[in-house]
Amino acid sequence: MNDRYNRQLLIKQWDQEKIQGSTVTIVGLGALGSVAATSLAMAGVGSLILVDFDTIELSNLNRQLFYRATDVGQEKVTIGAQVIREINPDIHVIELNMPIENAPRQTLETSTVILDGLDTFQTRRWINSFAIGANIPLISGGMYSFLGNVQVVIPHKTPCLECQSLIPEEELQKACTPFGEVRKRLRPEEEKEEFIPYVSSVSFVIGGLMAQEALKIILGLPPLAEYLFWDGEAGMFTSVPLELRDDCIVCSPRYHLQAIPIRSPADQQLREFAIQLQYSFNLGSEMTLLFQTQKLSISKEKVGEIFHSGAIFRVVDPTLSIPLKFEITLD
Ligand SMILES: [Zn+2]
Repeated sequence: MNDRYNRQLLIKQWDQEKIQGSTVTIVGLGALGSVAATSLAMAGVGSLILVDFDTIELSNLNRQLFYRATDVGQEKVTIGAQVIREINPDIHVIELNMPIENAPRQTLETSTVILDGLDTFQTRRWINSFAIGANIPLISGGMYSFLGNVQVVIPHKTPCLECQSLIPEEELQKACTPFGEVRKRLRPEEEKEEFIPYVSSVSFVIGGLMAQEALKIILGLPPLAEYLFWDGEAGMFTSVPLELRDDCIVCSPRYHLQAIPIRSPADQQLREFAIQLQYSFNLGSEMTLLFQTQKLSISKEKVGEIFHSGAIFRVVDPTLSIPLKFEITLD
Protein backbone atom coordinates (compact mmCIF):
# COMPACT_ATOMS: atom_id res chain seq x y z
CA MET A 1 0.00 0.00 0.00
CA ASN A 2 0.97 3.56 -0.81
CA ASP A 3 3.20 5.25 1.81
CA ARG A 4 0.75 8.13 1.80
CA TYR A 5 -1.67 6.12 3.93
CA ASN A 6 0.69 4.12 6.15
CA ARG A 7 -0.20 6.02 9.34
CA GLN A 8 -3.96 5.51 9.04
CA LEU A 9 -3.39 1.85 8.12
CA LEU A 10 -2.18 1.44 11.71
CA ILE A 11 -5.76 1.99 12.91
CA LYS A 12 -7.05 -1.51 13.54
CA GLN A 13 -10.54 -0.94 12.07
CA TRP A 14 -9.09 0.68 8.93
CA ASP A 15 -9.66 -0.72 5.43
CA GLN A 16 -8.06 1.45 2.75
CA GLU A 17 -9.71 -0.52 -0.08
CA LYS A 18 -13.13 0.35 1.29
CA ILE A 19 -12.10 4.01 1.56
CA GLN A 20 -10.77 4.03 -2.01
CA GLY A 21 -13.84 2.27 -3.32
CA SER A 22 -16.26 4.82 -1.89
CA THR A 23 -17.87 7.98 -3.26
CA VAL A 24 -18.78 10.91 -1.03
CA THR A 25 -20.96 13.78 -2.20
CA ILE A 26 -20.35 17.11 -0.51
CA VAL A 27 -23.21 19.54 -0.90
CA GLY A 28 -22.15 23.08 -0.09
CA LEU A 29 -18.45 23.99 -0.33
CA GLY A 30 -18.45 26.57 2.42
CA ALA A 31 -16.86 26.33 5.85
CA LEU A 32 -17.98 22.79 6.68
CA GLY A 33 -17.87 21.36 3.15
CA SER A 34 -14.33 22.51 2.44
CA VAL A 35 -12.95 21.18 5.75
CA ALA A 36 -14.74 17.84 5.36
CA ALA A 37 -13.74 17.46 1.68
CA THR A 38 -10.10 18.22 2.48
CA SER A 39 -10.08 15.60 5.22
CA LEU A 40 -11.70 12.96 2.98
CA ALA A 41 -9.24 13.69 0.16
CA MET A 42 -6.34 13.22 2.59
CA ALA A 43 -7.83 9.90 3.75
CA GLY A 44 -7.99 8.71 0.12
CA VAL A 45 -11.75 8.52 -0.49
CA GLY A 46 -11.85 7.33 -4.11
CA SER A 47 -14.41 9.74 -5.56
CA LEU A 48 -15.64 13.09 -4.33
CA ILE A 49 -18.68 14.76 -5.88
CA LEU A 50 -18.59 18.50 -5.18
CA VAL A 51 -21.84 20.44 -5.45
CA ASP A 52 -22.14 24.22 -5.15
CA PHE A 53 -23.13 27.08 -7.42
CA ASP A 54 -21.68 30.00 -5.46
CA THR A 55 -18.67 32.11 -6.27
CA ILE A 56 -16.00 32.96 -3.72
CA GLU A 57 -16.40 36.19 -1.75
CA LEU A 58 -13.85 37.93 0.44
CA SER A 59 -16.05 37.33 3.51
CA ASN A 60 -15.75 33.55 2.94
CA LEU A 61 -12.03 33.58 3.61
CA ASN A 62 -12.24 33.74 7.41
CA ARG A 63 -13.47 30.13 7.54
CA GLN A 64 -13.61 28.38 4.15
CA LEU A 65 -10.42 26.32 3.98
CA PHE A 66 -10.40 25.81 0.20
CA TYR A 67 -10.02 29.42 -0.85
CA ARG A 68 -7.29 32.09 -1.09
CA ALA A 69 -7.49 35.86 -1.61
CA THR A 70 -6.63 35.41 -5.30
CA ASP A 71 -9.66 33.11 -5.75
CA VAL A 72 -12.29 35.80 -5.04
CA GLY A 73 -14.86 35.85 -7.84
CA GLN A 74 -14.09 32.29 -9.00
CA GLU A 75 -16.49 29.36 -8.79
CA LYS A 76 -16.23 27.41 -5.53
CA VAL A 77 -16.53 24.03 -7.25
CA THR A 78 -13.66 24.77 -9.66
CA ILE A 79 -11.26 25.94 -6.94
CA GLY A 80 -12.36 23.18 -4.54
CA ALA A 81 -11.66 20.50 -7.16
CA GLN A 82 -8.29 22.06 -7.91
CA VAL A 83 -7.31 22.04 -4.20
CA ILE A 84 -8.35 18.39 -3.82
CA ARG A 85 -6.31 17.36 -6.87
CA GLU A 86 -3.28 19.18 -5.45
CA ILE A 87 -3.66 17.42 -2.09
CA ASN A 88 -4.25 13.99 -3.58
CA PRO A 89 -4.02 13.44 -7.36
CA ASP A 90 -5.48 9.93 -6.98
CA ILE A 91 -8.94 11.26 -6.10
CA HIS A 92 -11.56 11.27 -8.84
CA VAL A 93 -13.38 14.59 -8.51
CA ILE A 94 -16.75 15.30 -10.08
CA GLU A 95 -17.63 19.00 -10.23
CA LEU A 96 -21.30 19.94 -10.19
CA ASN A 97 -21.53 23.71 -10.44
CA MET A 98 -25.30 23.91 -9.98
CA PRO A 99 -28.02 23.87 -7.33
CA ILE A 100 -28.27 20.37 -5.85
CA GLU A 101 -31.87 20.12 -7.06
CA ASN A 102 -30.57 20.30 -10.66
CA ALA A 103 -27.75 17.78 -10.21
CA PRO A 104 -28.14 14.53 -12.20
CA ARG A 105 -29.79 11.94 -9.97
CA GLN A 106 -27.81 9.03 -11.42
CA THR A 107 -24.59 10.76 -10.34
CA LEU A 108 -25.84 11.54 -6.82
CA GLU A 109 -27.14 7.98 -6.45
CA THR A 110 -23.59 6.63 -6.74
CA SER A 111 -22.81 8.20 -3.34
CA THR A 112 -21.80 5.97 -0.44
CA VAL A 113 -22.51 8.92 1.88
CA ILE A 114 -23.80 12.47 1.39
CA LEU A 115 -22.46 15.38 3.43
CA ASP A 116 -24.64 18.42 3.90
CA GLY A 117 -22.88 21.67 4.71
CA LEU A 118 -25.75 23.76 3.37
CA ASP A 119 -26.85 27.15 4.57
CA THR A 120 -30.57 27.10 3.79
CA PHE A 121 -33.24 24.98 5.43
CA GLN A 122 -35.15 24.56 2.18
CA THR A 123 -32.23 22.97 0.34
CA ARG A 124 -31.34 20.96 3.44
CA ARG A 125 -34.86 19.55 3.49
CA TRP A 126 -34.55 18.66 -0.20
CA ILE A 127 -31.29 16.77 0.28
CA ASN A 128 -32.77 14.99 3.33
CA SER A 129 -35.71 13.90 1.20
CA PHE A 130 -33.36 12.79 -1.61
CA ALA A 131 -31.12 10.80 0.75
CA ILE A 132 -34.12 9.00 2.27
CA GLY A 133 -35.56 8.22 -1.19
CA ALA A 134 -32.22 6.95 -2.50
CA ASN A 135 -31.43 5.16 0.79
CA ILE A 136 -28.05 6.89 1.21
CA PRO A 137 -26.69 7.90 4.65
CA LEU A 138 -26.66 11.66 5.19
CA ILE A 139 -24.38 13.63 7.51
CA SER A 140 -25.68 17.08 8.27
CA GLY A 141 -23.72 19.82 9.99
CA GLY A 142 -24.42 23.36 11.11
CA MET A 143 -22.60 26.15 12.90
CA TYR A 144 -23.32 29.48 14.54
CA SER A 145 -20.80 31.59 16.44
CA PHE A 146 -19.03 29.23 18.90
CA LEU A 147 -21.80 26.62 18.48
CA GLY A 148 -22.05 23.71 16.09
CA ASN A 149 -23.97 20.49 15.51
CA VAL A 150 -23.76 17.20 13.63
CA GLN A 151 -26.50 14.71 12.86
CA VAL A 152 -26.16 11.41 11.01
CA VAL A 153 -29.24 10.12 9.20
CA ILE A 154 -29.31 6.42 8.29
CA PRO A 155 -32.51 6.19 6.22
CA HIS A 156 -35.33 4.40 8.02
CA LYS A 157 -33.01 3.44 10.91
CA THR A 158 -32.28 6.78 12.59
CA PRO A 159 -34.41 9.96 12.65
CA CYS A 160 -34.24 12.08 9.51
CA LEU A 161 -33.98 15.87 9.58
CA GLU A 162 -37.79 16.14 9.35
CA CYS A 163 -38.57 13.68 12.15
CA GLN A 164 -37.79 16.06 14.96
CA SER A 165 -38.64 19.65 15.69
CA LEU A 166 -35.14 21.14 15.83
CA ILE A 167 -36.12 23.19 12.80
CA PRO A 168 -38.70 25.62 14.20
CA GLU A 169 -41.84 25.67 12.06
CA GLU A 170 -41.78 29.41 11.47
CA GLU A 171 -38.18 29.16 10.34
CA LEU A 172 -38.59 26.29 7.93
CA GLN A 173 -38.00 28.52 4.93
CA LYS A 174 -35.02 30.32 6.39
CA ALA A 175 -31.32 29.55 6.64
CA CYS A 176 -29.74 26.83 8.78
CA THR A 177 -28.06 27.35 12.09
CA PRO A 178 -28.27 25.20 15.19
CA PHE A 179 -31.22 25.42 17.56
CA GLY A 180 -33.21 27.92 15.62
CA GLU A 181 -30.70 30.77 15.56
CA VAL A 182 -31.55 31.78 12.06
CA ARG A 183 -31.35 34.37 9.41
CA LYS A 184 -33.31 34.75 6.23
CA ARG A 185 -31.54 33.83 3.06
CA LEU A 186 -32.37 36.85 1.05
CA ARG A 187 -31.55 37.90 -2.44
CA PRO A 188 -29.60 41.16 -2.54
CA GLU A 189 -32.49 43.00 -4.20
CA GLU A 190 -34.80 42.10 -1.34
CA GLU A 191 -34.58 43.15 2.30
CA LYS A 192 -31.29 43.89 3.97
CA GLU A 193 -29.37 40.67 4.44
CA GLU A 194 -28.75 39.43 7.96
CA PHE A 195 -25.40 37.72 8.41
CA ILE A 196 -24.58 34.76 10.63
CA PRO A 197 -21.58 34.92 12.95
CA TYR A 198 -19.02 32.28 11.92
CA VAL A 199 -15.49 31.47 13.01
CA SER A 200 -13.11 28.98 11.40
CA SER A 201 -12.26 27.15 14.64
CA VAL A 202 -15.85 25.85 14.79
CA SER A 203 -15.83 24.84 11.12
CA PHE A 204 -12.72 22.71 11.76
CA VAL A 205 -14.40 20.93 14.70
CA ILE A 206 -17.71 20.30 12.93
CA GLY A 207 -16.29 19.72 9.41
CA GLY A 208 -13.79 17.29 10.94
CA LEU A 209 -16.55 15.42 12.75
CA MET A 210 -18.57 15.19 9.55
CA ALA A 211 -15.59 13.67 7.70
CA GLN A 212 -15.00 11.27 10.57
CA GLU A 213 -18.62 10.09 10.53
CA ALA A 214 -18.36 9.55 6.76
CA LEU A 215 -15.22 7.43 7.22
CA LYS A 216 -16.92 5.41 9.96
CA ILE A 217 -19.91 4.68 7.74
CA ILE A 218 -17.59 3.62 4.88
CA LEU A 219 -15.66 1.37 7.26
CA GLY A 220 -18.86 -0.19 8.60
CA LEU A 221 -18.45 1.29 12.09
CA PRO A 222 -21.54 2.52 13.95
CA PRO A 223 -22.00 6.28 13.33
CA LEU A 224 -23.31 8.86 15.81
CA ALA A 225 -26.70 7.70 17.04
CA GLU A 226 -27.76 11.06 18.49
CA TYR A 227 -27.71 14.70 17.53
CA LEU A 228 -24.33 16.02 18.68
CA PHE A 229 -24.20 19.62 19.82
CA TRP A 230 -20.89 21.44 20.37
CA ASP A 231 -20.70 24.53 22.59
CA GLY A 232 -17.22 25.83 21.91
CA GLU A 233 -17.43 28.57 24.52
CA ALA A 234 -18.27 26.14 27.31
CA GLY A 235 -16.03 23.49 25.73
CA MET A 236 -18.81 20.96 25.88
CA PHE A 237 -20.35 18.32 23.63
CA THR A 238 -23.95 17.34 24.33
CA SER A 239 -25.74 14.36 22.75
CA VAL A 240 -29.43 14.86 22.20
CA PRO A 241 -31.54 11.75 21.53
CA LEU A 242 -34.06 12.22 18.71
CA GLU A 243 -37.15 10.25 17.83
CA LEU A 244 -37.71 8.31 14.61
CA ARG A 245 -41.29 9.36 13.96
CA ASP A 246 -43.59 6.86 12.30
CA ASP A 247 -45.72 9.71 10.93
CA CYS A 248 -42.81 11.54 9.27
CA ILE A 249 -43.87 12.32 5.69
CA VAL A 250 -40.29 12.00 4.48
CA CYS A 251 -38.93 8.82 6.07
CA SER A 252 -41.86 6.86 7.44
CA PRO A 253 -42.32 3.69 5.30
CA ARG A 254 -46.10 4.02 5.49
CA TYR A 255 -45.98 7.00 3.13
CA HIS A 256 -43.75 5.27 0.63
CA LEU A 257 -45.95 2.26 0.09
CA GLN A 258 -49.21 4.08 -0.56
CA ALA A 259 -50.74 7.51 -0.85
CA ILE A 260 -51.42 9.59 2.24
CA PRO A 261 -55.20 9.60 2.78
CA ILE A 262 -56.63 13.09 3.32
CA ARG A 263 -60.17 13.73 4.53
CA SER A 264 -61.73 16.82 3.09
CA PRO A 265 -65.23 18.35 3.17
CA ALA A 266 -66.69 18.31 -0.34
CA ASP A 267 -67.25 22.05 -0.48
CA GLN A 268 -63.85 23.11 0.76
CA GLN A 269 -62.10 25.60 -1.44
CA LEU A 270 -59.03 24.19 -3.08
CA ARG A 271 -56.96 27.09 -1.80
CA GLU A 272 -58.00 26.38 1.80
CA PHE A 273 -57.26 22.75 1.19
CA ALA A 274 -53.78 23.61 -0.07
CA ILE A 275 -53.13 25.77 2.98
CA GLN A 276 -54.26 22.93 5.22
CA LEU A 277 -51.84 20.59 3.47
CA GLN A 278 -49.02 23.07 3.90
CA TYR A 279 -49.82 23.39 7.59
CA SER A 280 -50.25 19.67 8.19
CA PHE A 281 -47.08 18.59 6.47
CA ASN A 282 -44.79 21.59 6.81
CA LEU A 283 -44.65 21.95 3.08
CA GLY A 284 -43.08 25.03 1.57
CA SER A 285 -45.15 27.99 0.44
CA GLU A 286 -44.18 27.41 -3.20
CA MET A 287 -45.80 23.98 -3.42
CA THR A 288 -47.73 23.13 -6.57
CA LEU A 289 -50.61 20.71 -6.72
CA LEU A 290 -50.62 18.32 -9.62
CA PHE A 291 -53.73 16.37 -10.46
CA GLN A 292 -52.96 13.61 -12.89
CA THR A 293 -50.67 15.47 -15.26
CA GLN A 294 -52.49 18.79 -15.25
CA LYS A 295 -51.20 21.72 -13.24
CA LEU A 296 -54.06 23.15 -11.25
CA SER A 297 -54.76 26.76 -10.63
CA ILE A 298 -55.55 26.90 -6.92
CA SER A 299 -57.69 30.03 -7.06
CA LYS A 300 -61.30 29.31 -8.07
CA GLU A 301 -62.37 25.73 -8.33
CA LYS A 302 -63.78 23.76 -5.49
CA VAL A 303 -62.39 20.48 -4.33
CA GLY A 304 -65.68 18.70 -4.97
CA GLU A 305 -65.66 19.66 -8.61
CA ILE A 306 -62.17 18.37 -9.15
CA PHE A 307 -61.64 15.57 -6.71
CA HIS A 308 -63.75 12.55 -6.03
CA SER A 309 -63.25 10.07 -3.22
CA GLY A 310 -60.29 7.88 -4.00
CA ALA A 311 -58.70 10.45 -6.30
CA ILE A 312 -54.93 10.50 -6.13
CA PHE A 313 -53.03 13.71 -6.57
CA ARG A 314 -49.47 14.81 -6.09
CA VAL A 315 -47.87 17.75 -4.37
CA VAL A 316 -44.65 19.06 -5.80
CA ASP A 317 -42.75 21.02 -3.21
CA PRO A 318 -39.27 22.58 -3.37
CA THR A 319 -38.27 20.81 -0.16
CA LEU A 320 -39.06 17.32 -1.47
CA SER A 321 -37.00 15.42 -4.03
CA ILE A 322 -40.02 13.45 -5.25
CA PRO A 323 -43.70 14.49 -5.31
CA LEU A 324 -45.86 13.39 -2.39
CA LYS A 325 -48.89 11.29 -3.24
CA PHE A 326 -52.23 12.02 -1.56
CA GLU A 327 -55.52 10.19 -1.72
CA ILE A 328 -58.75 12.16 -1.17
CA THR A 329 -61.63 11.00 0.98
CA LEU A 330 -64.56 13.41 0.71
CA ASP A 331 -66.82 13.72 3.75
ZN1 LIG B 1 -38.20 11.43 9.18
